[in-house]
Amino acid sequence: MTDSLSISPDELHRRYEEEAEKRIKFGVRDYIDMVDIADSEFDRDPYAEPLVRDPLVAETDVVVVGAGWSGMTAAAYLTDQGVTDYRIIDKAGDFGGTWYWNRYPGCQCDVEAYTYLPLLERIGYMPKQKYATAPEIFAYAQLLGRTFDMYPHALFQTSVTGLEWSEERKRWRVTTTRDDVVDARFVVICGGVLHVAKLPGIPGVYDFAGPAFHTARWNYEVTGGGPEAPMDRLADKVVGIIGTGATAVQAVPKLAEACKELIVFQRTPSSVSPRNQRPTTPEEWAEITAEPGWHERRMENFIEGTIGMQPEVDLIQDGWTEMFHIDPKMPARNDEEARMLEEWDDLQMEKVRQRILDTVKDPETAQKLLPWYKISCKRPCFHDEYLPAFNRDNVKLVDTDGKGIDRVTPKGVVVGDTEYPVDVLIYSTGFDNTSPYHHRLGFDPVGKGGVSLSEAWAKGMYSLHGTLADGFPNLCMNQALQGGQHINIAYASTKTSEHIAWIIARALEDNVVIEADRPAEDDWFNYIIQSALPYFAYFANCTPGYLSNERKDADESMSRSACYMGSAVDFKRELEKWRASGDMPGVIKSPV
Ligand SMILES: Cc1cc2nc3c(=O)[nH]c(=O)nc-3n(C[C@H](O)[C@H](O)[C@H](O)COP(=O)(O)OP(=O)(O)OC[C@H]3O[C@@H](n4cnc5c(N)ncnc54)[C@H](O)[C@@H]3O)c2cc1C
Repeated sequence: MTDSLSISPDELHRRYEEEAEKRIKFGVRDYIDMVDIADSEFDRDPYAEPLVRDPLVAETDVVVVGAGWSGMTAAAYLTDQGVTDYRIIDKAGDFGGTWYWNRYPGCQCDVEAYTYLPLLERIGYMPKQKYATAPEIFAYAQLLGRTFDMYPHALFQTSVTGLEWSEERKRWRVTTTRDDVVDARFVVICGGVLHVAKLPGIPGVYDFAGPAFHTARWNYEVTGGGPEAPMDRLADKVVGIIGTGATAVQAVPKLAEACKELIVFQRTPSSVSPRNQRPTTPEEWAEITAEPGWHERRMENFIEGTIGMQPEVDLIQDGWTEMFHIDPKMPARNDEEARMLEEWDDLQMEKVRQRILDTVKDPETAQKLLPWYKISCKRPCFHDEYLPAFNRDNVKLVDTDGKGIDRVTPKGVVVGDTEYPVDVLIYSTGFDNTSPYHHRLGFDPVGKGGVSLSEAWAKGMYSLHGTLADGFPNLCMNQALQGGQHINIAYASTKTSEHIAWIIARALEDNVVIEADRPAEDDWFNYIIQSALPYFAYFANCTPGYLSNERKDADESMSRSACYMGSAVDFKRELEKWRASGDMPGVIKSPV
């Protein structure tokens, strides 16, 4: 185990800054958002059978937009509350959201399944392994859908294109790509955090002559095989994969096994620590699930164990809880603590770099794979086959030294003066989670007085709990901005769903229209920003990425998009306290 640095802290931090500066100098990379090219081949759903259906004209109590965990748990909690007159609409062909769309080989969840899968205790399902694969999670989403009888409520392969509030009818009118017109008393938007795939905004993306696709639209027609079957159409192919983030870390080993040659194009290396996957044994499962309430306790234990609260027992015992036993991004109370936090961060990253040097045999490749940034600047990855893949003769790393690839040609990929010909091109270039909320949704809700959300939030977001917004009656949003956050992304969204379902059920019971009050939104923003401000310093000198908002200067609008940075358990308790206080403080109610 590494317990000292191979270079001095000063040298290390200089290197961090140099690497960050290099990337800042290249500027914020332009992206092509899938939401802007929704009609193109890049965004075609490769998994759904063609669907023909008549447009639906209907009235309902609630429309839920999005059928990932947020939408599904909203539907489940609405059902618990006795609200069963609802529709759930998704562009996808089934439930699952992220886990419907992402079927690339090797795709799996990086948070242990026992903690991650929503409503696991109620469903009573035993995950096959500590870290569930995407097919298993997708199947679990379908099981959740069946258990709560959601299928009859679902409109799949349907994108919501418009949302307009009628003050006269006190209803939202929801319109879709299939010409549906659904009038609803409430709308819950659950559009996801990472659902809009993006391509690099470089010349030539549309010019490549061979097959090209994003990892979130994996084309098994081209590669052969399936999410769990080896790809059998690549043996004579040179494959290029652009990007070395969390997705590429999972896909590269599978591609390396399948293709003649794999060229991996890297801008910034990922930090990759041991995974230690293992099957779930019935004995272990019996122990984990022995006491009622185990799932909630386990989720809370994971949160506490990864934000430096050091619970007495670490129930999870994995790379996350080891790495974040101390959370170096937390605000230090004095200089000594600041030094201790920095040292912890430095040593964790030293371990990551040492593992690369110990694993990757070619010293030049190993050097290029070294991440030079602090542990929370990018989401850490955990994988046991990614680094060894670079020891194979058929795998080549093309490091662009922070710049990214220059362009795509009909034949391949250009970096500097060199063109790398490839037969198949795969974009592992991530997701847009920094463009305005309405842009990522693909529609701009129009609230009271014909004012759209983009107009109302032109100078930043106003909300109560990240869910209700003044000027947008009976609209609930489940998303991270001004909401809760944690490594286990499903946690805060599930708690928000529970909250939203409670609010809607009370408003339906009382037969009122609800709307956030601006002073309450101001108080809420204060609560959020007070929690977030102390963390800004950590991210201020990070390598650019979505966690550091690409190192753009924070204006008022951007800081209004902060999340609650304290414990996600405290966030849940804050919502519970508000509900327990009775009469929805900060919400204006008017008769229907
Ligand atoms: C590749 C990948 C790996 C991930 N791995 C992890 C992990 O290891 N651990 C973790 O905690 N989190 C992980 N996440 C984050 C993951 O997104 C969340 O954990 C969780 O699944 C989000 O659920 P959601 O319902 O909020 O959003 P999503 O699952 O994204 O669902 C949103 C749904 O809304 C639909 N939608 C959006 N706009 C519209 C519209 N206008 N009309 C109709 N439908 C619309 C989308 O089609 C999508 O199905 C990962 C994400 C990705 C992309």
